[in-house]
Amino acid sequence: MLVCACPCALGLATPLAIVISEGLCAKNGILVKKSEILENANKIDVIVLDKTGTLTYGDLRISKIINNSGYSNNSLLGIVSSLESKSTHPIASAFKSYASNNGLKSLDVSDFKNLAGIGLSGVINEKAYLIGNNKIFDKYKLDNNMFKEEKELSLDGNSIVYVLENGKVIALIGVKDIIRDNASRVIKKLKQINKRMIMLTGDNEITAKIIAKSIGIKEVIANVSPKDKSNKIKELKSKDLKVMMVGDGINDAPSLSLADIGVSLNSAIDIAADSADVILMRNDLNSIYNLFDISRKTLA
Ligand code: ADP
Ligand code: MG
Repeated sequence: MLVCACPCALGLATPLAIVISEGLCAKNGILVKKSEILENANKIDVIVLDKTGTLTYGDLRISKIINNSGYSNNSLLGIVSSLESKSTHPIASAFKSYASNNGLKSLDVSDFKNLAGIGLSGVINEKAYLIGNNKIFDKYKLDNNMFKEEKELSLDGNSIVYVLENGKVIALIGVKDIIRDNASRVIKKLKQINKRMIMLTGDNEITAKIIAKSIGIKEVIANVSPKDKSNKIKELKSKDLKVMMVGDGINDAPSLSLADIGVSLNSAIDIAADSADVILMRNDLNSIYNLFDISRKTLA
C-alpha cells in the first residue's frame, strides 16, 4: 500500500539516507569518496591491516646500534641518515630526526635507489651502501652472519636495519615504533562485530608477531613485498570474501586499489590516499568501527 500510495517516498529515502550518512561520516572524520562504500562497508568479512604507520604511529626512533664499522656511532649515523634523507619510508624518519637532533652533517649521495620492500642503496665517498632488511642478502647474493644479533633485536620489538658497506655488514640498527593508543580497543570492538583481521607487513616476522599479539591480532603475514601484499588481497577475494585493506605506504597502494574497500590514513603518502576509497581524516583507527556502524544504519 505504501509503495502504491507514495512511491516517491521510497525513491527519496535512499539518496536521503546516503546524504545523511555522508554527513555523519564527515562529522566523524571519515572521508568517503564513493557513496556505494556506505552500502558495501557492512558486508566486509576480512580487514587486512598494514603495520608500520597504520597500527603504529610510524614515528620510529633508533633504540639500539650494533656498530662493527670502525666508525664512531655519529659518523656511522651521518652516513646512514644522509642516505635515509632521500627515502620517504617511516623508518627513514628515525634517522632524519636523529641527524637533526645531533647536528649531523649531510653527506653527498650519488646513485640513490629505493628498493621497494627492502630498503635503499646509494654511494657516498665512492663506497657503495645498502641499507634495509635481511632481504638484501638474497637479492645481492651476500652472506649474513648476524642472525644472533638480529634475533636479539627483534625479540625486543625492534625493526631491523642492516647497514652494508661494499657488500659487508658494518652495523645493525634497531628502530622502534609506538603502537597507536587505541589499537587494541579498536581491534577488540571489530572482533565483536565478527570481523576477521590480518596484519600484513614487510617487516620481519618476530617483530610483527610481538606487535600483533600485544594488540590482539592472531593472523600475521610478515616479510611480504608490495607484490605479495596485493597477491594476498587477490587470494582472499578469490575465496569469495569481501576484503577491506587499511594502509598508508607506497607499498600498500596496489592492495588499496585491489581491495573491495581501500582505507588510508590522512598521514598516508599521496599515492596511498589516491588509491583508497576512504580516508581517515583524524588518523583514528576507531573511525573504521564508526564506518561499519554508519554503514549498518544506512542500510537499515
Ligand atoms: P611495512 O610498511 O609493512 O613495513 P614496506 O614494504 O614499506 O612495509 O617495507 C618493508 C621493509 O623494508 C621495512 O619493514 C624495512 O625493513 C625495509 N625498509 C623499507 N624502506 C627502508 C628504509 N628506507 N630504510 C630501512 N629499511 C627499509
Ligand atoms: Mg606502512
